Amino acid sequence: METIHNMPDSPDRDTLADTLEEIATLLDLKGENPFKIRAYRNGAEIVRSFDGDIVTEAKENRLGEIKGIGKALQEKLHELATTGEMTFHKELRAEFPPTIFELFEIQGIGPKKIQALYQKLNVDSIASLKEVCVNGKVSELSGFGKKTVENILENIAFRESNADRFHRHIATHAAEMIADFLKSLAETSNVEVAGSLRRGKETVGDLDFLVTTKSPEAVCDQFAAAPFVSRVIAHGKTKVSINLDNGLQCDLRAISATELPFALSYFTGSKEHNVELRSRMRKKGLSLNEYALTPIDSDSPAEISDITTEADLYRFLGMDYIPPELRENRGEFEAAEEGALPRLIELTDLRGTFHNHTRASDGAHTLEEMADAAMDLGLQYLGIADHSKASFQANGLDGSRLRQQIDQIAELNAHYESIGIDFRLLAGSEVDILRDGSLDFPDELLSELDYCVASVHNAFTLSEKDQTERVIAAIRNPHVTMLGHSTGRLLLKREPYALDHDAVINAAAETGTVIELNANPWRLDMDWRHWKKARDKGVLCAINPDAHNVKGLKMLRFGVEVARKGWLRKQDVLNTRNLSEIQKFLAK
Ligand SMILES: [Zn+2]
Ligand SMILES: [Zn+2]
Repeated sequence: METIHNMPDSPDRDTLADTLEEIATLLDLKGENPFKIRAYRNGAEIVRSFDGDIVTEAKENRLGEIKGIGKALQEKLHELATTGEMTFHKELRAEFPPTIFELFEIQGIGPKKIQALYQKLNVDSIASLKEVCVNGKVSELSGFGKKTVENILENIAFRESNADRFHRHIATHAAEMIADFLKSLAETSNVEVAGSLRRGKETVGDLDFLVTTKSPEAVCDQFAAAPFVSRVIAHGKTKVSINLDNGLQCDLRAISATELPFALSYFTGSKEHNVELRSRMRKKGLSLNEYALTPIDSDSPAEISDITTEADLYRFLGMDYIPPELRENRGEFEAAEEGALPRLIELTDLRGTFHNHTRASDGAHTLEEMADAAMDLGLQYLGIADHSKASFQANGLDGSRLRQQIDQIAELNAHYESIGIDFRLLAGSEVDILRDGSLDFPDELLSELDYCVASVHNAFTLSEKDQTERVIAAIRNPHVTMLGHSTGRLLLKREPYALDHDAVINAAAETGTVIELNANPWRLDMDWRHWKKARDKGVLCAINPDAHNVKGLKMLRFGVEVARKGWLRKQDVLNTRNLSEIQKFLAK
C-alpha cells in the first residue's frame, strides 16, 4: 500500500492520469480525431479510479487486462511508469509554445474555447489572448460575448496584479532547499529566512535570507553560482539578488553575528511593525536600523544593554517577544506590553482533521490509503468529507453512495478496533450549500453522519447580501458542524466572493458552528485577518487540509502557520482535541 513516505520520486497515479489528460487536451488543440482524444481521456479516468496499484500494473506491463486501456495506451503508460518519461507526450508538448498552458489557468475558458482561439486566431499565450480581447478580434468566434470577454479581461488583470507573488507552499519549498544549501557552506554560521514567509503571509513576493559569516564575499560568490540560480540580478560583496527558474526573487545578505538580531527584525518586517518599533526606540533616544541600535545624540548616550537576540530587542522596550506571525502592528505591541500575547498553536498540537476527499468523489486515494497516511502523520482521526451530488463535476456522492461510504467507514473502524489501533475514520460530507441556502442532502441523511462541512461551490457572483444570507442559512442548520472555505477564493487566481464576515462570524458564534481554516495553500480561507475577532467571540476553528490525495494531508502545516498569524491558540482549534474529546463534541 502507498504511504506518504514513498510517494514523490517515481511517477504516481496522478502523474499517469494527468499525462493522459494533457495529451487529450493537446490532441484537441491540434484538431485530431475525436475517438483518439476520447481514448486518452477515458484512459485518464480509468487510471484515476482503478482499484489497486495502477503504477505497479503499468510497470509490470499488465494493463492489457484492464478494460478500456488499448494497446497504444498500455505501451505508453508502461514507458512512463518505468522511465519516468513518455516520448509521445514530450514530442507532442514540443509542438506547442509552452505559453499555451497558461490559457488553461484563465477562469471561464475551457478546452473547446482554447482550441478555437488557437486554431482560428493563433492565440497561444495570455498576452495574445489579451490582445484579441482588447482589439475585438475575439468576437469573430462564437461563445465570446461581451460578458465573457469582460470576465476574461478582468481575470487577466487580476493575474497581472499578482504576477510577482507566489503561493506559500512554493515559497516554502524553495526557501527550505536554499536554506539547506546555505547551511552546507563551510563559511556560514547562522542561516535565517526572514520576510513575509517568516511572518506567515498567505502569499509571498520574494525570499529574504540572512547568513552570519566571517567571509561574506565567499558566501555571496557561492550563492550567485548555486545550481538553483536562473538569473543573477545583483552581485555585491555582502548582498546578492537572484531569480529562481519560476521567477521567484531571492535576496541574500551576509552579515556579522552581532548584526543578526537587528537585521532579522528589520528584514522580517512588516513595514508597519518596524515603523512602530523604531518610533518606540526613538522615544528612548535610540536609533534602530537594520544593522544596529545606536544613540541618536552622541553627547548624551542612552544606555544600550547587550542585545544578541530579537527577544532582547523587545525586552529592552519592556515587552514580551513578539512572534514573527504577529508583526503587523495590529495590536501586538499593546498585548506584548501587557504580557497578553497568545501562546500560538503549533503543528504538533493537531490530533486529527475533518475535511478530506477520497476516490469516491474527486480525490485520488481510497479510504484505507488516506487513513494510513493520516496514521503516518501521527493523527488519531481523519474525517472524510467527499462532495455531495450537486458538485457533479467533482463526482459528488448521492444519498445511496454516501450511505455505502458510511458503512465502509464503520467496517474499517471495527477492523482498527479489533487489531487494537487507536485510530478512527469519521464519516462526514462536504455538502453543497445550494443557491437558496438549503443543503444538498436532507436533514435525515445528515443526521446519519458524524459531522458535516457545508461549502459554497457555485453561484459565486451573488450580491454580498444574498451570499451572506445563503451562508448564514447553512450555518443555522443544526446538522452543519462547520463552514468550509468561507469565501471560495483561489489565491492569485480567483477573487473571494462577496461576504459580510462580521455577520457570518456572529451567526457562527450564536449557533456554535465551527469555521474552517482551509490549509490548502491555494485557499488559506477564512483569511487570517478575521480570526482574532472570531476567536474573541468564541468561534472555534478547524484546520483542514481539504486533501485530495495522501500528500495533501501535509498541507496542514500551512493551515497552522496561517492560524498563528490569526492569533489562534491551541484551545481555539477544534482538531487539537484528542479522539475521545472529538467523539464527545460530535455526539452533542
Ligand atoms: Zn470545497
Ligand atoms: Zn473539499
